[in-house]
Amino acid sequence: ALTAGIVGLPNVGKSTLFNAITKAGAESANYPFCTIDPNVGMVEVPDERLEKLTELYHPKKTVPTTFEFTDIAGIVKGASKGEGLGNKFLSHIRQVDAICHVVRCFEDENITHVSGKVDPIDDIETINLELILADLETVDKRIGRVEKIAKQKDKEAVAEYEVLTKLKAAFEAEKPARAVELTEDQQKIVKGFQLLTSKPVLYVANVGEDDIQDPSANPYVGKVREYAKQEGAEVIVICARIEEEIAELDDDEKKMFLTELGIQESGLDQLIKAAYSLLGLATYFTAGEPEVRAWTFKKGMKAPQCAGIIHSDFEKGFIRAETVSYEDLIKYGSVAAAREAGKVRLEGKDYVVQDGDVMHFRFNV
Ligand code: GDP
Repeated sequence: ALTAGIVGLPNVGKSTLFNAITKAGAESANYPFCTIDPNVGMVEVPDERLEKLTELYHPKKTVPTTFEFTDIAGIVKGASKGEGLGNKFLSHIRQVDAICHVVRCFEDENITHVSGKVDPIDDIETINLELILADLETVDKRIGRVEKIAKQKDKEAVAEYEVLTKLKAAFEAEKPARAVELTEDQQKIVKGFQLLTSKPVLYVANVGEDDIQDPSANPYVGKVREYAKQEGAEVIVICARIEEEIAELDDDEKKMFLTELGIQESGLDQLIKAAYSLLGLATYFTAGEPEVRAWTFKKGMKAPQCAGIIHSDFEKGFIRAETVSYEDLIKYGSVAAAREAGKVRLEGKDYVVQDGDVMHFRFNV
């Protein structure tokens, strides 16, 4: 499964956020085959469509889809030089598919800041620089080898050498790989390098309890937004401490608490949704009397592959997928009515599944 790693300097609120994630954790009864890793927090993906489908079907059971966050503690200045537990943590980042970068935007005299003062941009740049330096090392190691082969006019090596020099220049200018403009072919080459700075990023601005109602009043948040904007990255504002409290409430209590605070959606729920879409994930549904369920797939996946997420036999014996969009199903009120209106499609093996599709797979056993 794809996972988003939580990174940030010490004392910015990562553990507090990760606690909130584990407390909010998915009900393990629904996911019996999942292994438990203390650094992985599994949460349910909030989805209003699932609630609506439940109202429509009155199923015995409703099962949301899940999403995993990985806690990556311990990044400090000098990590790329092996400072702290440096290299070990960089290798953990290598294993995640997207990065949620937590930055401290709350003032609190009692909580020391590693660099002495609250300065989110400085913090972001400190971490980004470590990742860039690690990538520079990766590229440097490779460039020497590839250069020799490129000189022998090996076509692939020439193309790779070109990409490597482009990346090297960017890293030396302290720019991440994701900021480098590349052709589609070049992007494929870069994938093989497993660079840290080509992973998609979102910033999590951790604000104080008093700022949660009106985060724009917090000057640090504005700065993070500005910084993220020029990178094309998203910013989620949370108060990790409040999220930790919310995570202990049941659904009704949670709704009441948020209403009291004047907030529509908890920061953690926003974060889950944002990370999910950052990873290029989407949801399709299966719906019936026994169970209404959400399933995660990667955008671009075709019907048989999506069927295979439920069970490998579904993929092997795939015949067709009876498909109706969530909007049409809600509009017509039942699959039968949607079928009469011509909105139920029989999709074959080349169909690219869309977010919100409600699917019934037909397969040979
Ligand atoms: P980590 O080192 O990044 O994992 O940071 P922690 O989660 O351990 O947080 C460091 C300290 O900051 C702890 O004492 C937290 O209680 C405190 N803290 C975290 N989030 C908030 C917040 O939103 N508001 C305030 N006031 N303190 C926070």
